[in-house]
Amino acid sequence: NDTVFTFGGNAPHSNARQKDKTVTGGKGANLAEMASIGLPVPPGFTIVTEECLKYLAGGSDFSEKLRADVADALRHVEETVGKGFGNAADPLLVSVRSGAAISMPGMMDTVLNLGLNDETVEGLARTSGDERFAWDSYRRFIQMYGDVVLGVDHGLFEEALEIAKEDNGYYADTELSADEWKTLVAQYKSIVEEELGSPFPQDPIEQLWGAISAVFDSWDTERAKVYRRLNDIPHDMGTAVNVQAMVFGNMGDTSATGVAFTRDPSTGEKAYYGEWLVNAQGEDVVAGIRTPQYLTRARREAAGADKPSMEEAMPEAFAELSHLFDLLERHYTDMQDIEFTVQQGKLWLLQTRNGKRTAKAALKMAVDMVDEGLIDEKTAILRVDPMALDQLLHPTLDPDAPRDVLTTGLPASPGAASGKIVLDADTAELWANRGEKVILVRVETSPEDIHGMHAATGILTARGGMTSHAAVVARGMGRPCVSGASQVSIAREGRTLSIGDRELSEGDIITIDGANGQVMAGEVATIEPELAGDFGTLMEWADKHRRMRVRTNAETETECRMARQFGAEGIGLCRTEHMFFDAGRISAVREMILADTEKGRRAALDKLLPEQRSDFVTIFEVMAGLPCTIRLLDPPLHEFLPHGDTEFEELAEATGVPIEKLRRRAGELHEFNPMLGHRGCRLGITYPEIYEMQARAIFEAACQVARDSGDAPVPEIMIPLVATRRELELLKAVVDRVATDVFADTGTTLEYLVGTMIELPRAALMAGEIAEVGEFFSFGTNDLTQTTLGVSRDDAGRFLTTYVDKGIFARDPFVSLDVDGVGQLVELAVERGRATREGLKLGICGEHGGDPASIAFCDRTGLDYVSASPYRVPIARLAAAQASL
Ligand code: PEP
Ligand code: MG
Repeated sequence: NDTVFTFGGNAPHSNARQKDKTVTGGKGANLAEMASIGLPVPPGFTIVTEECLKYLAGGSDFSEKLRADVADALRHVEETVGKGFGNAADPLLVSVRSGAAISMPGMMDTVLNLGLNDETVEGLARTSGDERFAWDSYRRFIQMYGDVVLGVDHGLFEEALEIAKEDNGYYADTELSADEWKTLVAQYKSIVEEELGSPFPQDPIEQLWGAISAVFDSWDTERAKVYRRLNDIPHDMGTAVNVQAMVFGNMGDTSATGVAFTRDPSTGEKAYYGEWLVNAQGEDVVAGIRTPQYLTRARREAAGADKPSMEEAMPEAFAELSHLFDLLERHYTDMQDIEFTVQQGKLWLLQTRNGKRTAKAALKMAVDMVDEGLIDEKTAILRVDPMALDQLLHPTLDPDAPRDVLTTGLPASPGAASGKIVLDADTAELWANRGEKVILVRVETSPEDIHGMHAATGILTARGGMTSHAAVVARGMGRPCVSGASQVSIAREGRTLSIGDRELSEGDIITIDGANGQVMAGEVATIEPELAGDFGTLMEWADKHRRMRVRTNAETETECRMARQFGAEGIGLCRTEHMFFDAGRISAVREMILADTEKGRRAALDKLLPEQRSDFVTIFEVMAGLPCTIRLLDPPLHEFLPHGDTEFEELAEATGVPIEKLRRRAGELHEFNPMLGHRGCRLGITYPEIYEMQARAIFEAACQVARDSGDAPVPEIMIPLVATRRELELLKAVVDRVATDVFADTGTTLEYLVGTMIELPRAALMAGEIAEVGEFFSFGTNDLTQTTLGVSRDDAGRFLTTYVDKGIFARDPFVSLDVDGVGQLVELAVERGRATREGLKLGICGEHGGDPASIAFCDRTGLDYVSASPYRVPIARLAAAQASL
């Protein structure tokens, strides 16, 4: 198998393997494809991802075959460009860049201008006729290579540059002369030598392999691992390496570099969007060192900026570029994110990929592209990441609420967020873990800040443009972000900051609006999201194409209403115990639990009956005839016990039972392993009167609603934590008896079902027998995961991230169903259950019902519906449609 593929010049047209992103990475595959269709791409070659994995597994060494193949490929580049790598008279320079199958912006390493040394820099100066450019490139190379490959702190180089600028009274890097760059190069080289004890490597071949190692190693850095974990990217893919002839955007005023999107990645609007810089190299744009200029005139004018747009300053190159934008968008039938360089008037494309986008933009582009005839409805459904919808479903700032605007930066990632100011990523994580909402405020962000950005509800930076690290990462994560707010000035030591003339401290609350770049003092009121428009259109298409139904896990009136707005088609799980915590009832609940006789329990239950009945009346009214699965009491009883002296005193007063007796009874109820203790249907078996009361409340409410409104509810009564047929049989008899009584008393008869949850391995194994009694199954995959893995769902947090990092689980099994293990039990129960009872109604109500990968599994397995929390209902609708396609 090839270890290296070439592209550009007379390289062979790319074959299936070279086009495969898992082999050559996204960047490599697209570079080859662009070169094949005749676009201006500098020639180069790609080392395949397998070599990365071999290198990492094999003690950081390269095979002889790889060395030989790279040498051949390098010759291809030399011949195409007509320059020699390491040739002092006319040197070829290359860039070395990572490129995984799934893009990880800013996460891995890049080295530019490789091939320069004390001799080739002179050659570059002569052939380019521009000494200044040659030395600027050399210092850039030492700085990047020093940082990325040799591990020298980049701050040391930046400091030297700052001092040089200060000494000369310069503001911008571009003001330094050739001689001043030469002096700086000498300083940079001594910095390297001092730090490493050996001189900066002069041999271009050694430089090349050093850079390749660094790219491979960057796959395994902590920040890359964190990024993959947050984005569900497997750790075993590896990265490709792209080595490509350099073209220079820093050859004077007819040269430039930039990044562009073919549509607006924030809003989805069909308008070119991007930034560029004259006389610069790529990293200048992204790193936020110089503030970039707008690409189009319209944008520049809208922003009131005075530096010319590319459209105005380089009309010819811009015209060609826009032609290529359209061509690439049609070719890939998706919005493209493009890097380009203009070298002395000639345009080059360095990269294209499907651009990252906000949920709002994804939605708009998908719907627009169907209208434009670029894609069909099914493709549109597949284009939107269901999880990203979450961003659209949450409140935005109320336009009428008062705003105390401190400053306005760039609207880098939409959405609004309020929270406490934190000044570094670790603090952000710490405070967020305490349950606080925080806004991470930084001069600019770097990949080391990822964990803090994830923990924060919003991000604010003082520097950097719309394509800066902060902006790109925030958009990807769905965090609101305001970047380039230049009035923000941070004093790290005092942990304070000033915005204009206002002084603030870490911990003060601010609000940011990523839609218009505003930064406000305090918290600003919010309004509910807009569910019509593009969202409505896409959801309509999704509903047309999905097989499974989508229900919700809900028990309050608000949740039920919200879920219906989001399109829920019924309730898949109403956890009745949640209703027991209401202030007015908890003491009756405690009285029931602590009673030591059936009589005592019944007295307390009589108090609860009317309350429960009214809960169910509300739910049935809101759900208006849609199916409602109501689960009888499930949790370990100790969850309801009084804690602390005050609660015991209150209870003693309310019930008239002496406090000592209450304490003793509470002690008796103590369990060592409550999750596997006296809970679920075991409560119903030992205290049938509890389930009796609940069944009565359900039926009385259903009869009342059937009489009062036309929409007769169909209650589906669900028994939790069943392990045996007999448990279900005994409890179904209780429910049926109550139903008969209530129907006789009220004179109203209703359809209803009695079914069970499958939450224990034994229940899954014995599903055939259990289906003789149970009229439906709902997979309680939270408990089924807990009991199958033997991992406590409440304690797993302490070690599961390590498990995911070490590749033991691809994802947290409580978030995304362990299809290989727990999934087998689900499949088995489906098969055995339906063998007994044809057409047995099947659903899932664990958290997995809102997880797209688990939803795809449910679709394959033939479940009838999934049930998810209200905000996840749209996610589930879209994921169910994607699963059907
Ligand atoms: C489950 O176990 O998956 C379930 C839905 O029940 P609960 O989360 O209430 O235990
Ligand atoms: Mg459960």
